[in-house]
Amino acid sequence: MDLFNPANTRKFFPYFCSEKRGDNIYFDNAATTHKPLSVINRITDFYVQENSNIHRGVYGLGVSATDQYESCRRLIHKFIGSNSSKEIILTSGATESVNLVAQTYGKKFIQKGDIILVSPIEHHANLIPWQVIAKENGAKIKELPINKDLIIDFDALDGALSNKVKLIAVNHVSNVTGLSQDIKRVVKKCKKFKIPVFVDGAQAGSHVKINVSELGCDFYCFSGHKLFGPTGTGALFVKEDILREMPPYKTGGQMVASVSFQGSKWIDYPLKFEAGTPNIAGAIGLGEAIKFIKNIDFQQLANYEQHLSVLMAEKLAEIPHLEVYGSSKKVAPIFSFNIKNIHHYDLAELLSESGVLVRSGHLCNQSLMNFLKIDGCVRASLSIYNSEEEINNFIRALKKVVKFLSKSI
Ligand code: PMP
Repeated sequence: MDLFNPANTRKFFPYFCSEKRGDNIYFDNAATTHKPLSVINRITDFYVQENSNIHRGVYGLGVSATDQYESCRRLIHKFIGSNSSKEIILTSGATESVNLVAQTYGKKFIQKGDIILVSPIEHHANLIPWQVIAKENGAKIKELPINKDLIIDFDALDGALSNKVKLIAVNHVSNVTGLSQDIKRVVKKCKKFKIPVFVDGAQAGSHVKINVSELGCDFYCFSGHKLFGPTGTGALFVKEDILREMPPYKTGGQMVASVSFQGSKWIDYPLKFEAGTPNIAGAIGLGEAIKFIKNIDFQQLANYEQHLSVLMAEKLAEIPHLEVYGSSKKVAPIFSFNIKNIHHYDLAELLSESGVLVRSGHLCNQSLMNFLKIDGCVRASLSIYNSEEEINNFIRALKKVVKFLSKSI
């Protein structure tokens, strides 16, 4: 795929030729990305020709659906560099993955008086499940120290680590700033105290190459829908030695080895964590999205996104009183900003009237908003199919909106 030519990239995504889209500029990729035709066709084909439940039927369709579902697990295992596909649990997304770990690992291993270190720049999905389990088990949530550039303050981290800390939860790439955290360094520091590290990779997969073995983390999750895959899909990686000790999450069909009226026994992981009929078509679609990404040269992708980021940063700097949050060393072209004396909601609303689709508000990250002492911001988040021309048009629209809103103050 020639990534230096977004017109070519767009040919893979039917959204860009849809009638409803018009000339809209879609800058909300951190919320969800568009889907390539191969993913859409794969899901449709499954429902039209191959629909069947998995892990049950002995007939051809059932066996084939099971094979395809399991092949998605293998694709994910290779895609994120885990040791085995047994370490991959298919979930409905990052939110479910965090809840799963909090309610299984957390419930069993985090006890009264223990500490969970969570950075103050986490998406609600990587904060609230820890708050809930901390409350249930009598543990405490403490802040993993962050500096003014919105990355981990490693000197302060040294002081925050102790034998009382039983888990660290941190994002790989921020949904607000597009900055990445140095996970390898976190893991190295945590080794001394045997603290497991949970990484929220929801925003990483479509921008950086993930390798959980290199990162060394114990848990890693991502969402399928931010990775050109279907909504309601995602995966959770858990190191096998931890997985072995984790109790089940949801219980019911599919996750049992034997059941009697008196009690039940679980099957082995990862299916032990996948009770009920899962999102089979979604998982198969996610597998197709991963095949799509695997055809992309990540270095080329990084260069192209870097190019978009540099241009975007230069153009935003032309607008008086505009503040972008976080340093410029982004790995993902995600820009969150405010303009003095203009409400972020008004900016986003008027931009949308000009055909620019951006997000505004707290971005499901109220703790980061508190850290920045703001109540919200505008976020423009780009992906491989966005272009220089769209950035120029966005900036033109933004300048007009600012002019209009400044007059009405
Ligand atoms: N973490 C981060 C950093 C995110 O950006 C998001 C999605 N906005 C989530 C978690 C939640 O992901 P999902 O939609 O897959 O539950």
